Amino acid sequence: MATAAISPPQVSDQKMLIDGKWVQSASGKTFETLYPATGDTICRVAEGDTADVDRAVQAARRAFESRAWGSMDAAGRGRLLYKLADLIEANAEELAALETLDNGKPISDSLHIDIPGAAAVYRYYAGWADKIHGKTLPVSGPFAAYTRHEPVGVVGQIIPWNFPALMQAWKWGPALACGCTIVLKPAEQTPLTALRIGELAMEAGFPEGVVNVVPGFGPTAGAALVAHPDVDKVAFTGSTEVGQEIMRRAADSNLKRVTLELGGKSPNIIFADADVERAAAFAYSALFFNMGQCCCAGSRLFVEDSIHDEVLEAITSRAKKQRIGDPFDRQTTQGPQVSQEQYEKILGYIDSGKSAGARCVTGGSKLDRAGYFIEPTVFDEVKDDMKIAQEEIFGPVLCALRFKDVDEVIRRGNKTMYGLAAAVWTRDIEKANRAAAGLRAGTVWINCYDVFDAAVPFGGFKMSGLGRELGEYGLQNYLEVKAVVTALGG
Ligand code: NAP
Ligand code: MG
Repeated sequence: MATAAISPPQVSDQKMLIDGKWVQSASGKTFETLYPATGDTICRVAEGDTADVDRAVQAARRAFESRAWGSMDAAGRGRLLYKLADLIEANAEELAALETLDNGKPISDSLHIDIPGAAAVYRYYAGWADKIHGKTLPVSGPFAAYTRHEPVGVVGQIIPWNFPALMQAWKWGPALACGCTIVLKPAEQTPLTALRIGELAMEAGFPEGVVNVVPGFGPTAGAALVAHPDVDKVAFTGSTEVGQEIMRRAADSNLKRVTLELGGKSPNIIFADADVERAAAFAYSALFFNMGQCCCAGSRLFVEDSIHDEVLEAITSRAKKQRIGDPFDRQTTQGPQVSQEQYEKILGYIDSGKSAGARCVTGGSKLDRAGYFIEPTVFDEVKDDMKIAQEEIFGPVLCALRFKDVDEVIRRGNKTMYGLAAAVWTRDIEKANRAAAGLRAGTVWINCYDVFDAAVPFGGFKMSGLGRELGEYGLQNYLEVKAVVTALGG
């Protein structure tokens, strides 16, 4: 495995990708993107607004109706997706460095998780492109009927900053396999890999206008995409609050289809009969991976009474060994939070936990250095109704809660507005499956956590979202079903 040092790259100012061309914004405005480990400006980026979104949507519409894309063989779409996956792999170090610079995540994570994970998703959906088809239906009378699974059309996609390249892959892979065209708005904090992957898509040979990348802010560029009357569908990942707003606006514009992947407050439940050492190790990474900035973070750790001290001890000692610092050092396991805004929000939650009477057993402060670094923080004796047990903190703050039996923990595990993920740790298969059935969440991991695969659907129950991404299920987000009925005569 390559271990040569990767340094922060020099990045020049960035334009946006519309209709296969690199253009400035219509307004001429730009915004800064920052390196979260220092707060320094990386470069300026063209700031998209209503006019740019409109231009991009028009380009996407033309591409959707073009021969070059609209009449391309399904296998041809697959070939382009395979090519894109290959190009991402061929440029993995450059992309990983860009991701780490823009987001602050440790380079070892960008290099071994985010970028290969993105390539894997494109490759998975490349394989689906020519396997998407309808059905023939047994109908009454002298008729023949079949369904066609057609692309939904022009899709607006809005993604967050926590896994920029991966979230782009989750959105682009299935949409392109289905034959849609795309206008993507990356998060304002992390536009760089989206733009570079847009460039790689052009290099792969996607026709002009099939993918467009318009960086900018949520309330302007994002809102314009959601309100646009010629966008057929919007796919969003981010906060529940913005997800609700998007659904309202989509309804008011043209009833565009909406899928949402939103927040979580996922219960991670360790029973006394689990492999406690392994469970505690995973409980640590379930929350602290990616600086706690994961929608499926195991943020409520339910520990059965009799193993409580052992688990808390193991987690606390891991927290103390975390290597916090320079994201470009391959030994670093924890970098900064993505932005000043997130940093302050998380510190506010830490104060809230302390004043509500939860016991802060380790961490609890910011680091005394430049950048948005926060100590890995563990709260014990957290009560179900505390703010830190109900709201998504999206930072390195773990809440531990005690429980006594299965039914109690299922009931309490379900006691939030969210339902994204959950995990149970036990050697008792009956107990594991009883909990898996009882927990209202889109994913339940048994004796593991954060196991993702392009083939396995992911998404939320309740206020964690609408629809599923990844797997065969993920295709449904980008398809319309058309029924065709033919009279047979006679
Ligand atoms: P956010 O506002 O929901 O941002 C997600 C994306 O939506 C960004 O591209 C954002 O643009 C865009 N957006 C914001 N307002 C919009 C609007 N009115 N119309 C259309 N698009 C809009 O999330 P955030 O402010 O970055 O983070 C806030 C909280 O959201 C976090 O603390 C965390 O709890 C949660 N979150 C969840 C996930 C997840 O994976 N489910 C990811 C990120 C954040 P801008 O970049 O300009 O804001
Ligand atoms: Mg925002």
